[in-house]
Amino acid sequence: MNREQYSQQIIDTCLRMNAQGLNQGTSGNVSVRYQDGMLITPSGIAYEKLTPAMIVYVDRLGQFEEGKVPSSEWHFHLACYSARPELNAVIHTHAVSATAVSVLNRSIPAIHYMVAVTGIDHVPCIPYATFGSQLLADSVENGIKESKAILMQHHGMIAMEKNLEKALWLANEVEVLAKLYLQVAAVQREIPTLSAEEMVTVIEKFKTYGLKSD
Ligand SMILES: [Zn+2]
Repeated sequence: MNREQYSQQIIDTCLRMNAQGLNQGTSGNVSVRYQDGMLITPSGIAYEKLTPAMIVYVDRLGQFEEGKVPSSEWHFHLACYSARPELNAVIHTHAVSATAVSVLNRSIPAIHYMVAVTGIDHVPCIPYATFGSQLLADSVENGIKESKAILMQHHGMIAMEKNLEKALWLANEVEVLAKLYLQVAAVQREIPTLSAEEMVTVIEKFKTYGLKSD
């Protein structure tokens, strides 16, 4: 795909994540790996007003095109691409249930076998740091190395996958797990989980599970 096609795919993903209730307003941001860096949503422009020409290229060193301002969260997007060379798309949202779990500063344990969408047996929650800071980017880099989806304390979530379609699917799965976790936690303090042994089996099966597109 060329730059314009990737840019259009970013815009379509932004619109879809809001339509699916995964995000509010322009608080989320979306990027794809491109050349030596990434293409990312600009800062503070309503998704409905975005055109492919407004999508910003940021190189691996964090230099961006003149006259364009990338999302204030560009630091951690870049950190994701350096952490996971095999994955090419990042979605960040303030989805309500995932953010609610992040406020409690809890990881989502193996309450359901679908937690294996992360590649591990839980959805980790990384420590709070100010938005847009290098400290947050460093924390994201560590978290995403371990898991394809993470919660960010008092902030939201990140989902990283091979392409944008899969990343959106992953973000939606994490939000569903967060909703489920909150419902279970509301009625019972001790939350039952699947055994570590069973999760090893599930994670192995998940290596060939999920959206088939590449
Ligand atoms: Zn954010």
